[in-house]
This record gives sequence, C-alpha cells and structure tokens, in this order.
Amino acid sequence: MQASMNVMRAMVLDRPGQPLVMRERPVPQPGSGEILVAVSACGVCRTDLHVVDGELPHPKLPIVPGHEIVGRVAALGTGVVGFDIGQRVGVPWLGSTDGVCPYCLSGRENLCDAPLFTGYTRDGGYATHTVADARYCFGLPAGFDDAAAAPLLCAGLIGWRSYRMAGEGAALGIYGFGAAAHILAQVAAWQGRRVYAFTRPGDSAAQAFARTLGAVWAGSSDETPPEPLDAAIIFAPVGALVPTALRAVKKGGRVVCGGIHMSDIPSFPYAILWEERQVISVANLTRADAREFLAIAPKSGLKTAVVRYPLEHANDALEDLRSGRLRGAAVLCR
Ligand SMILES: [Zn+2]
Ligand SMILES: [Zn+2]
Repeated sequence: MQASMNVMRAMVLDRPGQPLVMRERPVPQPGSGEILVAVSACGVCRTDLHVVDGELPHPKLPIVPGHEIVGRVAALGTGVVGFDIGQRVGVPWLGSTDGVCPYCLSGRENLCDAPLFTGYTRDGGYATHTVADARYCFGLPAGFDDAAAAPLLCAGLIGWRSYRMAGEGAALGIYGFGAAAHILAQVAAWQGRRVYAFTRPGDSAAQAFARTLGAVWAGSSDETPPEPLDAAIIFAPVGALVPTALRAVKKGGRVVCGGIHMSDIPSFPYAILWEERQVISVANLTRADAREFLAIAPKSGLKTAVVRYPLEHANDALEDLRSGRLRGAAVLCR
C-alpha cells in the first residue's frame, strides 16, 4: 500500500470559536463492529455551527464535525455484518447508544443516557475518511447522488421525526426554511398537506423557494397565516418563534421545536398555550426513524437542493449557513 493511501485529510475544530483547520492524519483502522468509510460528501448542518460556536456542552476536542456523511465502505472491522467493501453508506448523527439504558430498552434510543453523536462526541465527516459503528449506518436510496443524499441524513431524518411529532393535521406551518424545511415541505405536499412557510422577515428569495417546493403560502415569521395551523415545526434556532407559533396554531395544536439549540424563549401569556396547545422538542433520531424516512424519501419524489463546497472550504460553508444566504443545503464534496 502506498504511503499516501494511509493519510487522510480532515477539517478539525481544536477549540470552539476558532475556524476549522485542515490536518493530515493517519487513516484510522475500524475497530470491532466498525466500518471505515471513504467520504464522498458530507452535509453541513446548523448543529455543526452550534458545535463550532461552543453552544453545545462537552464536545470531544479536537473534533471533526459533520454528521450527514455519504461514502463507500473502505474497510470492515471484525464482526461487521450486512456491509460489503465498496458499498455506499450513510452515517447519521446518532453514532451509537449503550443499548441497555431505560430509553434504549423502551424504543427511545434517541434519548439514550450514554450515546455518541457523530461530529460532536466522535469524529465525523468533514474529512476524506471516517470510522463509524456499523449498526448505526444505513444503505441509501438510489436516485440521489452522493451530494444530494447527504442532507437526507440529518435535515431529512430529524426533520422527519419532527414532522411525525407534529401529527396528522392538514395545515402545517414551518418556521425557518433551511435544509430540513426544504425536504419536509416536499414530503408534506406529496402527502396532500397545506404547508405554510415562514422565513426571516423580508427574505422574499426564501419565500419564493418555499413556494417552488409546494408551500401553499410563504411569508415572514411575523405574519399571521391565512388559516389557523394544526401544527407548526420550528427549525430556526430562535426562541421568540415559540410564542409566535403558538399564536398561529389552533386549539389542540402542537408546536414542535426541531433544533438542538435555541435562543431563550421569551415569556408569554398562558392564554396562547391554553386550550390544549402543546410545545414539544425533538431530540436526535432513532434507527427506526432513519429506516422509515429513507424508504419514504424516494417514493415522495423529493429533490434536495444542494450547494457544493470543496472540503477545504468548510469554513465558508459554515459562514454561508450562518448568514442565511443558502437556498437548501450546503454539502462538502471530495
Ligand atoms: Zn441507551
Ligand atoms: Zn444535523
């Protein structure tokens, strides 16, 4: 084997608040139950921004961010079943669980007491190679090329969990029209729901984008939708949207907070929660969520809108996400 094949490149966060730096490292060997993945594409998620900005506690440092990983199996650790060398795989946010805590044992492994998260507490996919626990990796639907498939792995999966949590109502509001919203709006429209898209005030480009993806209405987050909503999902990390969304949902309606981090929620009058309105957060994903969504994605005909960046431009991709300039999802590509 040539020496160059033993070296990988990774964009590394040494300390929150600093830019990522390109590093060369030895290619890791997969341990028992793990696979080595040669990464071809990795989505850039808002959670990565929270990690880089130090808004999430206790990251592994240094850390390679990235948890929407698409690549090919390059080596198998001992005991791995169900994967072959060269097979395309996806690696999501849920990196592993303990399998024995009360949450794991009750079908809620997303709430595991001792989990590892890809790109947060174990190294992720802003790299040419990564090692993953095979039990938490997935085959990916054909019909999505590598870059197009990457956003399915978090925007899609955790978006899907948020979407299911929102219930069956026909009138669905989505606050924050980024990567997750652009995927779930298409699924909702395909299922015959009426999607109301809320963007930053004045972001007419994002509103136009939402309409092309099946939203029946798009406006600013401070606007009242033309009909009361059955449910709303908040993907934007803005706590002030919680009372805003509560005011927009009808009796018995539900407001789902789909992000891992949010600015503080301002106090609000009980009257807007009264009448059995609910506020609920969604944390992480289960493997069942992933299997369900990865089966539905190709049936729905959804297309992901991706903006490609070379791996070494990961800092630019993060800044573009932060600024709200992106339409769809940023993806780092080899
Ligand atoms: Zn557990
Ligand atoms: Zn994510």
